[in-house]
Formats: sequence, C-alpha cells, structure tokens
Amino acid sequence: MTEVIDGNAVAADIREGLTDAIERLADADARPGLATVLMSDDPASETYVSMKQRDCEEVGITSHHVEIDPDAPAAELLDTVAGLNDDPDVNGILVQMPVPDHVDERRVLRAIDPAKDVDGFHPENVGRMVAGNARFKPCTPHGIQKLLEHYDVETEGAEAVVVGRSDIVGKPMANLLIQKEPLGNATTTVCHSRTADLAAHTREADVLVAAAGVPEMIDGSMLKGGATVIDVGINRVDADTEKGYELIGDVEYESAKDVAGAITPVPGGVGPMTRAMLLYNTVWAASEQANVDVDLP
Ligand code: NDP
Repeated sequence: MTEVIDGNAVAADIREGLTDAIERLADADARPGLATVLMSDDPASETYVSMKQRDCEEVGITSHHVEIDPDAPAAELLDTVAGLNDDPDVNGILVQMPVPDHVDERRVLRAIDPAKDVDGFHPENVGRMVAGNARFKPCTPHGIQKLLEHYDVETEGAEAVVVGRSDIVGKPMANLLIQKEPLGNATTTVCHSRTADLAAHTREADVLVAAAGVPEMIDGSMLKGGATVIDVGINRVDADTEKGYELIGDVEYESAKDVAGAITPVPGGVGPMTRAMLLYNTVWAASEQANVDVDLP
C-alpha cells in the first residue's frame, strides 16, 4: 500500500508544538515577532505575504509588515531592512522575493542580520549549513526533513535524487541530505535542466525530491518501486474549476502512486510544511535572541 504523506497533519503538529514555546517566550516578555517586507505589486507575492501574516497570528507570533513602492529606489528597501535589524521587537525578517529588477536581490539578502534571517538565504547561513553547523535551515528543505522524520524514511545509505538546483530548494535540500547527521547520510545526486538522462537517475532513487517547476514531468515509469516521492512543485495549470485553474505537482500523481512506497500530494504535502517551518525558524530566532530556552517540535 502506498502511504500518502500528509503535510497538513504534520504541519499542524508542528504549529501545535510551537504554541507552547511561544507562550513560554511571551511569559518571558519575549513574544516572537516576524517582519515581512513586500516590494512588489504581484498578486502572488501579496498572497504569500498575507498567508505568512495569518500563519503568525494563528500561533501567537506578532507580525510586522512593511510595504515599499516597487518603483522606489533600492536604498529604501535597504534602509527598511537596516531598521528592522535594529528593532528588538523583530526577531525574524523576510523580504518577499522577487524584488523589482532595479534592486540587487543578493545585496538585499546580505543586508539582513544573519541572526534574523529566518529564510536562511544569507550567505553566512548558507555557509553554516553547508559546513554542517546550520543556524536557520531554509524552510522548504527543512520541512521535507520533518516529513521524512515523521514517516520514518531512512535516508542513511539511501540513494537520494533531487531534481532542481535552485538556491531555495534544490541546493539546500541536497546539502542537508549529504550531511553526516540524522536525516542526512544519503548518497545524493542533483539533476537539473542539463541532465542528459533524467529518468536513468530518478529510477535509482530511494528518496526522490522533485523541485523543477515543470508540471507532471516525472511519472510512475521514472520511479523505483517503493521509493519515497517528495513533490515540491506547485504549478498552476488551466482547468475547468471555479477558479479556472488547478495546482499540480512535478510528479504525475496517478501513475506515481502505484509505484511509490510513499508520496506527497499537491496540494497538502510540502507546501504546508514550508509555511510551518517559517514559524519554527522565527520562534527559534526569538529564543536565541532572548536567551530563553524552549522545546521546539
Ligand atoms: P527554480 O525555477 O528556481 O528552479 C527549478 C530547477 O529545476 C532549476 O534548477 C532547473 O534547472 C530545474 N529544471 C527545470 N526544468 C527541468 C527539467 N526539465 N529537467 C530537470 N530539471 C529541470 O524553481 P524553485 O526551486 O524555486 O521551485 C521549484 C518548484 O517548487 C516550483 O514549482 C515552485 O513553485 C515550487 N516551490 C514549492 C514550494 C513549496 O513549499 N511546496 C516552495 C518553493 C518552491 P536549471 O538550474 O538548469 O535551470
């Protein structure tokens, strides 16, 4: 029987576990605070930011929000980040990407205080993760690790294949999988758009993480029997639904579920975990900054 990996349920457990930690911090006058910064009028970015604010409210994290005119000079964004770095009520800072073309994204990421970089994209935090001394693990791969842990998926000695090499998903995922620590120790292959024979690699995977952003590019014929399939892809495709579209993954679920041992659905798999791990990182940041120990889920 193929196990359907329930990201909604695991994310709910994590949020529940965080609530206790947040109350403990609040009792110590250190309620966690997350600042979101939006310099875009893209509706998808607006939606992501408002979801993050709502998530914070639900668990008792204070959310601070700054909107910057997308035509404003880059300096305005950098000044905003500098102000948030200095604000003791703000424990985590998230600048919603993408920023407008005239703003250097890497410069923005470098401007965030690494101790408040709850996305884990600052070069210092990337370096620490690669060196096996992670501070903030990026939310999506961290959430995937939590799913693997919850479902007792063995990564040690496993063949892991990550499809995609982005800075936010593919590269950090592969890095976590090769770490000499629990939920790592996998023999890890990273595939991308220049990979010559993708299926030859995916068929070897005991653990497959698909993060290419190409709808249903991986079907059941490309999987090893019994594999754990983690579908990160969120692709909006036209459909005869009320909204006129539906969200589908990078994996063709129907054919894959007959071959896989365990599989994440889209939606309801990795997405809720990404959201939960942002809250997790914010709570952890607050506990570090206030020097108050809390148990994290
Ligand atoms: P990017 O576009 O930044 O990266 C996509 C990666 O996939 C690139 O490395 C690219 O290769 C590779 N790729 C593209 N086409 C192919 C192909 N045909 N064969 C093999 N590799 C290919 O995307 P992200 O990493 O930001 O996101 C990936 C997907 O995950 C998207 O659908 C996104 O919406 C979703 N996502 C979901 C999240 C969640 O919480 N569930 C969170 C973040 C993202 P190359 O480097 O050569 O261009």
